[in-house]
Amino acid sequence: MDFIRQMVSRDLKTGKYGGRVVTRFPPEPNGFLHIGHAKSICLNFGIAGEHPGGRCHLRLDDTNPDTEKSEFVEAMKEDIRWLGFDWGEHLYHASDYFEALYRYAMVLLDKGLAYVDSSTEAEIRERRGSVNTPGTDSPFRDRPVEENRDLFRRMRAGEFAGGAHVLRARIDMAHPNMVMRDPLLYRIRHSTHYRQGDEWPIYPMYDFAHCLSDSLERVTHSLCTLEFENNREIYDWLLEHVGAPPPRPEQTEFAPLVLDYVVTSKRRLKQLVHAGHVRGWDDPRMPTLAGLRRRGVTPEAIRALCDMVGVARAQSRVDSGKFDYAVRNDLNHRAPRAFCVLDPLRVVLTNYPEEREETFTAPSLPGDPQRHPLRELPFGREILIERGDFAENPPPGFRRLVPGGEARLKYAYVIRCEEVVRDAGGRVSELRCSVDHATRGGVAPADRRVRGAVHWVAAARAVPVEVRLIDRLFREPEPPPDDFMSAFNPKSERIVPRALAEPGVAGTKPGTHYQFERLGYFFSDPADCGDGRLVFNRTVTLRDSWAARSGADSQRRPVAAPEAKAEAARGGRRQSPEESMRSDEERRRFRELVALGASEAAAAGLVRSPPLLEVFGRARREYPEGTASIAAWLVNEFTRLLGSDPEARLERLNASALAALARDVDEGDLSHRQARTVAATLLRRGGSLEEAKAGLDLSEIGDESTLRGLLDEILAEYPEKAAAYRGGQAGLLGFFVGEVMKRSRGKADPRKTSRLAAALLKG
Ligand code: ATP
Ligand code: MG
Repeated sequence: MDFIRQMVSRDLKTGKYGGRVVTRFPPEPNGFLHIGHAKSICLNFGIAGEHPGGRCHLRLDDTNPDTEKSEFVEAMKEDIRWLGFDWGEHLYHASDYFEALYRYAMVLLDKGLAYVDSSTEAEIRERRGSVNTPGTDSPFRDRPVEENRDLFRRMRAGEFAGGAHVLRARIDMAHPNMVMRDPLLYRIRHSTHYRQGDEWPIYPMYDFAHCLSDSLERVTHSLCTLEFENNREIYDWLLEHVGAPPPRPEQTEFAPLVLDYVVTSKRRLKQLVHAGHVRGWDDPRMPTLAGLRRRGVTPEAIRALCDMVGVARAQSRVDSGKFDYAVRNDLNHRAPRAFCVLDPLRVVLTNYPEEREETFTAPSLPGDPQRHPLRELPFGREILIERGDFAENPPPGFRRLVPGGEARLKYAYVIRCEEVVRDAGGRVSELRCSVDHATRGGVAPADRRVRGAVHWVAAARAVPVEVRLIDRLFREPEPPPDDFMSAFNPKSERIVPRALAEPGVAGTKPGTHYQFERLGYFFSDPADCGDGRLVFNRTVTLRDSWAARSGADSQRRPVAAPEAKAEAARGGRRQSPEESMRSDEERRRFRELVALGASEAAAAGLVRSPPLLEVFGRARREYPEGTASIAAWLVNEFTRLLGSDPEARLERLNASALAALARDVDEGDLSHRQARTVAATLLRRGGSLEEAKAGLDLSEIGDESTLRGLLDEILAEYPEKAAAYRGGQAGLLGFFVGEVMKRSRGKADPRKTSRLAAALLKG
């Protein structure tokens, strides 16, 4: 449980707020909500939902008439609902409190705790002093109460031009906290407010409006991001001095979500929109919720990311790999598979009869044949493959088609490249290949090992689609704050006007997910599809292709230096994986692994465990492109499954099977869920991946080996529950059966599961 939830539980126990939990999400409607806001939404609505009677208000913090619009309000509402949260009847606007706020200001004036300052903006700024020097009093600071009241009333009546006067709190111009040096409470603004029209010529400042709005709504826990830490003092001061009724709301700060390779600030996002670098707030490249939605990111993935990131006070950045992981992990079980060729190269199958057309079938969603029946793939003499799946001069480790070499057309045949045909310019225009008829259906006989598998479409039946390959919005993980546009990635979108997809893709509705095998997850654009036009946005690749391309990730620093120092001073920063290495030798190994493509966390895990490192080395030799996944699988999944006797169980693990497993997952042949089951089987029984997969038929999951696989996995994950069961808590059997049902998505036979679980738990 995070520190905020702990605090809320504590407050409930002590009865501080009489058992009430009221939070709020208070966006200013001056732009679209972004991924950073999602963290705050999940936190505020999440906490409210966890307590009976708890509630979370949606409050539009609309106190600036110049930048706010109802268009933004409506977009915000839509985005919050889409994320899966609901404010019910608790929709509020700070602008509805203008009258009440005005009266509170009068209370301060009466108490001599506020004054009208007629200095210019520059004078006020100058007199504030600095962190090291105290400020100086304004010459208007000692105006009599009556004069202040009169001036403020006339400000409200619209008698003065903008900038003529401001209302300030009267606290202490030498206060060590700069925020407390007579902060501005109101300024004059002759602008039309999107809700209040021209009713108000004065507008309250954030510090004044926020705490009082919280109090008026009887909020209990006012949660905000770290940059408001210094404002907490004025929050409390104002509530106390206007005489807000106790129990008063209290402000607590948490670290904002800061995602690599994007900017999360409405102001900066607005610049991108206005300068025309993107097509709008909901451009699929944008980190706005509307943009992410349009790109195909699901609300579930965003919520999962927020869960993964957690809530803490220590400032940290979120690696884009974590974001991608959350997205893939969610899409993997919902996006049906299809073939799509982005850059087609014609292949003529010379020994395949011209008139023949046959149809192969392939899983639409591995492991879920009920909801997603098999898809049909027509096949003919002329097919199209990805140009990049053929190489005349293959780089080391290339496993696809080469002159004279073989490759497997997924689900169809093994073919051999017999001849390369070129156009007048010398560019490869066509391959002439032979089909191995013995490999029909893509299943090679046992003695034939063909390593590379490529996707394809039949030329005669392919469906043209437009594809947008979306890449990072910025080239640097931390775009420089003072000049973030210098890091803009002009190649953040590459449009493929005419890619060719398998026939089943025809007629796809807008807003549909697909996994185009080997290419990534795609989403048919909700706005641009229609009238027979199909446009797909790439939501995310199947694995991180960026790191391989640019080596960018291995060079970057996890936290900017000044921030890191500040954090270390606060004692809040966690050690980086590299810092956790205990010797130069370990550090050297660590860096080597990262250079090879392993994530920092996985590299650290491998360095710490020589047996894991050894298996890793062997598996990597078989599947060098899969370095990152092999490392991640070993460190994240296998370690968890190894249980009490890691070395003995690891001995059974066949490195080739591990490599093949990682490959199957990368290529989307196995879902993560299935792969975990297979992993458990590999550790239990050893053997090849094919053998382990043989027991994996999630459509009829009555068979014992699959159930055992699932149960093994669950027992390894919950050793304390297994021990408790053995210690006499028979009721826990239900827990294990329930977990199996959950992981098999209801497909397991509960009776068989229960019997097997009882037997395994005894043994
Ligand atoms: P921006 O700078 O993007 O406009 P903001 O903080 O000014 O952000 P608001 O609309 O005032 O935007 O924010 C509403 C709420 O969302 C605030 O409580 C704020 O603390 C929170 N919030 C804003 N950005 C983040 C973030 N990156 N991570 C977590 N919470 C955030
Ligand atoms: Mg802001």
